[in-house]
Amino acid sequence: MALHEMKAPKGTDARTDVFASPLSERVLPKYRMPEEPSLPEAVYAMLHNELLLDGNAAQNLATFCTTWSDDEVRRLMDECLDKNMIDKDEYPQTAEIEARCVNILADLWNAPEVVGGRAMGCSTTGSSEAAMLGGLALKWRWRERRRAEGKPVDRPNIVAGPVQICWDKFARYFDVELRQVPLEDGATGLRPHQLREYVDENTIGVVAILGVTFTCDYEPVAEIAAELDRIQEETGLDVPIHVDAASGGFVAPFLHRDLVWDFRLERVSSINASGHKYGLAPLGVGWAVWRTAELLPKDLVFDVNYLGGDLPTFALNFSRPGGEIVAQYYNFLRLGRAGYRRVQGVCAETARYLAGQVAEMGPFTLLYDGQGALPAVSYTLTDPAGAGFSLYDLSDQLRMRGWQVPSYPLPADRQETVVQRVLIRHGVGRDEVDLLARDMRDSLERLRRGKPADTERAGFHH
Ligand SMILES: *Cc1c(COP(=O)(O)O)cnc(C)c1O
Repeated sequence: MALHEMKAPKGTDARTDVFASPLSERVLPKYRMPEEPSLPEAVYAMLHNELLLDGNAAQNLATFCTTWSDDEVRRLMDECLDKNMIDKDEYPQTAEIEARCVNILADLWNAPEVVGGRAMGCSTTGSSEAAMLGGLALKWRWRERRRAEGKPVDRPNIVAGPVQICWDKFARYFDVELRQVPLEDGATGLRPHQLREYVDENTIGVVAILGVTFTCDYEPVAEIAAELDRIQEETGLDVPIHVDAASGGFVAPFLHRDLVWDFRLERVSSINASGHKYGLAPLGVGWAVWRTAELLPKDLVFDVNYLGGDLPTFALNFSRPGGEIVAQYYNFLRLGRAGYRRVQGVCAETARYLAGQVAEMGPFTLLYDGQGALPAVSYTLTDPAGAGFSLYDLSDQLRMRGWQVPSYPLPADRQETVVQRVLIRHGVGRDEVDLLARDMRDSLERLRRGKPADTERAGFHH
């Protein structure tokens, strides 16, 4: 029977209740599309309930991504459901809003000559796509330079510290060697003096990370640039920087305004950031911005004429919803610089509070207390061998209360250090973090006693 056949006139039949209908007695089709259509409210109720099995996004302290939005954002997303951002001729206002965002970001990141709305950049699906576009521009420019000099162009490399997976993808998909600089003892990211060993004539660029995924720390972009200046003086190699500011691009301009990491550094040729992380937009938007238009090679930009009008496009995909872009602009207008400063500042304070709690608990050594870079806390077990439990055990315990707090080893060469990381972002409040700290204490107590979980506390009654 099709789901829709279960419907009786409203109010006349117990079967009008979705969960009293035969549908609820059967499993949903999983491997083959059903023959017949069904009523939307019945299907909705089934899927709504199935989705409850997903983790609770608000308790997911592993993600950098937005999990809280104004109702107005939800409304705008709904209104933009049918707007294809690639179709700039049909939806010129959405296209204009995208361009405004690019200009706002270029200005926020201190690009030269952004007057008159002429900043060079684009929206993407996230930082991954934006990073690929930045990497491609680097590769193209390097190749043009090499060809002009009559030199081989078959072995490009890109140099970086502990990168997010998107740079591994860039390297493999676009046939570039990723020269990954290992972490020094005690370091949380690339250290400038390491560069010499890795940079050569085939280096298309250095990636500096503002907000290292594993440690939440900023890499010292200005010092990296200064070291590349020295390398240029000594060897003639002129190596540009792409800043992967996936998270930090929306934090540093508000909380660390004296930190020079952006287009104020001439060597920084492009920057990516995730609108859907600390940019506070809902999932599905990132940004790539170039210092000047000349840094984006023209043959990477395609002109499309079959949507009516001539439309330049630089992107890996084509059709994409416009809602996230509109929501990004909404946040810019809604919060302004003062609002972003306040939102990120409150997150940093909450991180500091949690860091204080974690420090008091006893078995942990703080690696990062949420000050100076991303609003986050990371720590390790002071005595992993003697603790009687691992951070993975603690993650499991916290999971029983719904908290997602990841434990993982640091990248090479610090892989013997296992850390735990909590990200504080918009919507994760002080009270929530206080409850997390309480659950951490309870978990530690259980782990110390070596007893199985206290299931009563977790809300299971038999
Ligand atoms: C999250 C992140 C990325 C990938 O960004 P998406 O928006 O998820 O594609 C890249 N680099 C860094 C440093 C990140 O934190």
